[in-house]
Amino acid sequence: MGSPRLQDVFTRIDAAVARGRLPVVVFDLDSTLFSTAPRNLRILQSYAEAHGARWQGLREIVGRLTPEDMGWNVHEDLQRYGVNDLELLKEVKQWWFERFFTDEWLLHDEPVPGAPQYALDCHARGALLYYLTGRHAGGMEIGTVRSLRQSGFPFWRGRCVLHLKPSFEMADRAFKDDAVADIRSYQGEVVASFENEPGNANMFLQAFPEALHFLLDTIHSPGAEAPNAQLIHTSDFL
Ligand SMILES: [Mg+2]
Repeated sequence: MGSPRLQDVFTRIDAAVARGRLPVVVFDLDSTLFSTAPRNLRILQSYAEAHGARWQGLREIVGRLTPEDMGWNVHEDLQRYGVNDLELLKEVKQWWFERFFTDEWLLHDEPVPGAPQYALDCHARGALLYYLTGRHAGGMEIGTVRSLRQSGFPFWRGRCVLHLKPSFEMADRAFKDDAVADIRSYQGEVVASFENEPGNANMFLQAFPEALHFLLDTIHSPGAEAPNAQLIHTSDFL
């Protein structure tokens, strides 16, 4: 017997269904089901295309970057590759900020390996998929729906909930706290959650201690909480 694995969620779903209960699986989107690295890289490339001529060497540096080079902050990714002009970094940060949180740009995201099939398998066994994201309504909703569908995640098939943050300004953590109450309102049985932010994963563990809680080892915000030792680490859904 090793530590719990992705397949153990299927066993939990089957057991809940057998008891006549609705199994619920909670999925975060950014850096959990989707890698945002291609979105970040594409935004940097668009800046270099539009303004690269003003900064010596920028187009060459950006041209060499791959999605694997993308971390949490694009300006810090550039700094790692020797870009130190503060004026330039400030412009890049602003350029990124104006694009990252929009329908159009999030369509560049790629699913984390195995994620669509894994979600399909959970759904086919009878789970309600609860997509919970800090992306905000009124700016990212249409792109999110298109992105889920174009990547092959279950969506228009019943038992799929998409819960976005009601406003851009609301803090992610407060939003996810509120979401716990909404998840409970389905009166199902939360069998698993998937998150990349340790703080959120810790919160789900506390809220639903009987479930399996997975922490995606992708990227997370700087200064994140320490992950609880009971969280199950994975880097993909394979
Ligand atoms: Mg996330």
